[in-house]
Amino acid sequence: MSKHKTKYIFFTGGVVSSLGKGISAASIGRLLKARGYSVTIIKLDPYINVDPGTMSPFQHGEVYVTDDGAETDLDLGHYERFIHTNMTSSNNATTGQIYYTVISKERRGDYLGNTVQVIPHITDEIKRRILLAGEGDHPYDVVLIEVGGTVGDIESLPFLEAIRQFTQEQGHQNVMNVHLTLVPFIRASGEIKTKPTQHSVMKLREIGLQPDMLLCRSEGVLPMEAREKIALFCSVPPEMVFEARDVESIYEVPLLFEENGVGDRVTARLGLETREPDLSGWKKFVRKLKDPSGFVRIAICGKYTNLHDSYKSIIEAFVHAGVENDAKVELKWLDSEQIEKTGAERWLKDVSGLLVPGGFGERGIEGKIIAIQYARENGIPFFGICLGMQCAVIEFARSVCGLAEANSTEFNPDTPDPVIDLMETQVQIEDKGGTMRLGAYRCSLTPKSRAYVAYKKREISERHRHRYEVHNDYLPLFEQNGLVVAGRNPDNKLVEVIELNDHPWFIGVQFHPELKSRVLDAHPLFREFVRAGLTFKLKQQTEL
Ligand code: GLN
Repeated sequence: MSKHKTKYIFFTGGVVSSLGKGISAASIGRLLKARGYSVTIIKLDPYINVDPGTMSPFQHGEVYVTDDGAETDLDLGHYERFIHTNMTSSNNATTGQIYYTVISKERRGDYLGNTVQVIPHITDEIKRRILLAGEGDHPYDVVLIEVGGTVGDIESLPFLEAIRQFTQEQGHQNVMNVHLTLVPFIRASGEIKTKPTQHSVMKLREIGLQPDMLLCRSEGVLPMEAREKIALFCSVPPEMVFEARDVESIYEVPLLFEENGVGDRVTARLGLETREPDLSGWKKFVRKLKDPSGFVRIAICGKYTNLHDSYKSIIEAFVHAGVENDAKVELKWLDSEQIEKTGAERWLKDVSGLLVPGGFGERGIEGKIIAIQYARENGIPFFGICLGMQCAVIEFARSVCGLAEANSTEFNPDTPDPVIDLMETQVQIEDKGGTMRLGAYRCSLTPKSRAYVAYKKREISERHRHRYEVHNDYLPLFEQNGLVVAGRNPDNKLVEVIELNDHPWFIGVQFHPELKSRVLDAHPLFREFVRAGLTFKLKQQTEL
C-alpha cells in the first residue's frame, strides 16, 4: 500500500443557496495550505448544461476560464485566488458532463449490454472524477469538493449518494463532511432559530450522510447555547459547530475560521499532523485592505452592471490592486445604455479611471464607445478588456482615423471597415459550446511599452475567451495615427495589447487579466491602472 493517502472534504449546503460554500471551501483550503499541505478544490454542479459557457451572465454570473481553456463556474476563481493553485478542466464537473460521458460510453457499447443507471453508473462517474482531480502530477494531500445546490434538491441526489459510497470506500478517517447552513435571526422575537439547520441535517441523514462539521451562517455571533442545541439535535460534537458570521470582506473568512479553531479541527478529524499555520502575509493583506490611506473611484461601463457576479474576477482584481496601492478602490457601475442616451460627461466627471470589461452582443456598444472617447479625449486612465479593447479600437478608427462607419462584424456584419473581425479559425464553427478561442496563450510585449513596464518581462501568458480579433490589415493606418501595438501572439501574430502614447494611461487587452489576479499578487495591469487613477486624481486636485 502506498504511504500517501489523499484526504477528502465535502462541502454541502442547506436551507438556502448563496451561503458561501465556495468561499468556505476556499478558506479551509487556505488554512490547510498555510499548514504546508498541498490542496486542490473541485466544484460539482448539479445542472444539465455541460459547462456555464453557454449560460447567460444574468443567470450564472461570470464564466471563469482556466489555463487549459475550460469554461467553468465562478467559484473556481475564488479557489485560485485563495489557494494560489491553478485549476484545470478537471476541477469542475456538471451533471451535464457526467451524463455526457456515461451516455457516450453506452453508445460505444462499453457497458456490454448492461442496463445503465444512476446507481452505479452515474455515481461511479462522479467518484471517478473526484479521484482524478486528486491525482494531479503528485497526489494532493487534501481534495476539497464543493457540491453546488442545496440539500433537498432533486438534482443533487446522485452527488450526495456518490459521497455516501465514496466515504464508505475511502474510509471514514479519510473523508470529512462539512455542511453549511443558515441560522436566521428573527427580529420580531429577537431570537436565533436553529430549526432550519436541524431540518437540513435531517435531510442529509435521510441520504445516509452525517456531517462532521457545521458552519452556521449567521448575521452575528452564534451564542454557546445555540451551538449546543444544534450539536445535540444534529449529533455533531459542539466543538465542531462553528459560526460563520457575516464579515465585511471575503478575505477575512480564513482568519475568522482560524481564530475559531476550524483549521486544527479539520486536521485532527482527518488524522493529519497538527501544524502551526503561516498566515502572516494573509493577515497583512487584510489589515491593509481594512485601513487604506488613499481613495480612488473607477467607473466600470458594461451591460450586466446590476449583477455584480458577472464581473466577479474584475471586482476582486481591484481589491488586490487597491491593497498594493494602499488605496480603497470604489467602483462606480455605469450602464452603457444610459450613456448612449445621455452622453458620458455627467457619469465620468467624478471618476479617475474607466474600465470597459468583456461582453457579447450589440446592445450597449455605442454607449461604451462614447465613454471611451470621453476618457481618451480627457486623459482619464482607460483599461479595456476583451470587448472593451475591441470598442477602444472601433472608437479610435472612427474618431482618429476617419473611418466613420468602422465596426466589429459581431455588431454590423456589413460594415465597410471591419476593424474587428471574426478570427479565421472561427469562420467554420457553428456549435456554441466550448468553441471560442479559450485558455492561455502566449503574448510577446513590445519593449518600453506601458504593458512591458507593468509586467517587467517580454513574454507573458494570459487567458482568453473570444471569437473576434483586431483586423491586422488596419494596423498600418492605426499605427500612423498613434496607436501602439504593445503585445502580439508570437505564433499567429494576433493583436493582444494596444496602447496610446499621447495619453496618461490607455491600454486595451484582448485577454482577461482579471483571471490571474491573486491575493498578495495583484495583476500588474490592474496594479498600474489603479496607480494611474491615483496619479490622475492627484493631478486634478492640484489643478483645482
Ligand atoms: N464578443 C467579443 C468576442 O467574441 C468579446 C468577447 C469577450 O469580451 N470575452 O470576441
